[in-house]
Amino acid sequence: MTDPMGELLPPPRLMMTPGPSNMDARVYRALATPLVGHMDPWFTAMMSDVQILLRRVFQTENRMTYPVSASGSGGIEAAVVNPLEAGDEAIVCSNGWFSDRMAVIGERTAAKIIRVEAPYGKTVDPDDVRRAGRGRKIKLVGLAHGETSSGVLQNLDDYRKVADELGAILVVDAVATLGGVPLDVDRQRIDICFSGSQKTLSAPPGMAPITLNTRVEEIVKTRKTPVQSWYFDFVPIMSFWGSERTYHHTPPISLIFALREALRLALEEGLEARWERHRQNQHALIAGIEALGLQPFVKNPADRLPTVVAVVVPAGVDEAKVRAQLREEFNLEIAGGFGPVKGKIWRVGLMGYVSQKSNVLLFLAAFEKVLGDHGFRVPAGAGVGAAVHSYAEAGAVATHG
Ligand SMILES: *Cc1c(COP(=O)(O)O)cnc(C)c1O
Repeated sequence: MTDPMGELLPPPRLMMTPGPSNMDARVYRALATPLVGHMDPWFTAMMSDVQILLRRVFQTENRMTYPVSASGSGGIEAAVVNPLEAGDEAIVCSNGWFSDRMAVIGERTAAKIIRVEAPYGKTVDPDDVRRAGRGRKIKLVGLAHGETSSGVLQNLDDYRKVADELGAILVVDAVATLGGVPLDVDRQRIDICFSGSQKTLSAPPGMAPITLNTRVEEIVKTRKTPVQSWYFDFVPIMSFWGSERTYHHTPPISLIFALREALRLALEEGLEARWERHRQNQHALIAGIEALGLQPFVKNPADRLPTVVAVVVPAGVDEAKVRAQLREEFNLEIAGGFGPVKGKIWRVGLMGYVSQKSNVLLFLAAFEKVLGDHGFRVPAGAGVGAAVHSYAEAGAVATHG
């Protein structure tokens, strides 16, 4: 325990986890902006700015684009409870902890949820989805673009195709990908897409940016029964974040200020530049990991998530002890695995503000040192050297086309 009356002094951690990520100083400053009431004309006008920025990041024209007042899981909940009601059937692609959460939440609605599964570290086979939906009236197909629990990226276009064949809407969990991995809501025709503020957008936790198209608006307006959740019901929220600005609930004003700044930062950098930065740092980190004699958990390079690198824990090394030492000795936090991969993988986050060359090189140096203390010896500097080489190659490509 700390002293409850003592000054609040958290340790200065570098959070190389799958969220929350560290934030740019500009985002901290925005967070400290004095409050303005949520019905103040200045604030209700500023809400439109946030929506414009969110639409640019999601790459959509959807009117209903706003931050849900909840963490990423609240985004899943809003995306699932609004379209589903008794008599509906939905398919959820489950290949890890977070994509499965969509099924778990769906099972609390009156709809029937069909899980199509793949093991941790693998993508869900779109043909399995096709088979599971054959002869049924599927209303919704849901999946995680990036499955954070295993570091897997899925190709959205394959699932869009199947959802079209089934006549279903496509719901995409982009909590781990928005702002770090190519994603284009309108071009990829995603019906509902949501994210989390604390991950690749590097804003504080507590908001789930979401976007839904008119097809979804129509579905929720014509429901036979009210949405089971009062708080997440899209219909009254449309009156607040839609044109009228009618009070529904008090939004987290300070978080919205911070999100606005984080979105400005993302768009100043440019989405393409941002995706490229995440890709280069991912490649350098993986090159470093491999040079240390370790293996990425996801075998197929095309399925690796640029924002979370999962690493197999070598035999004889205690996963949790390595993590604890990185934290205590280097103020550096990485994550372990949970569920079936508990104790078996480390997960190194490279999200948003944290996805930087300096962090990759620091991590590899610290990791080498800590692994050595745990009896896993590697050639000195091998990881850093391989990463430096990877950056040089990426630079050469960038310079010479
Ligand atoms: C983190 C995460 C969530 C859950 O977000 P919370 O903010 O922890 O509620 C959901 N889906 C994915 C893919 C995530 O990475």
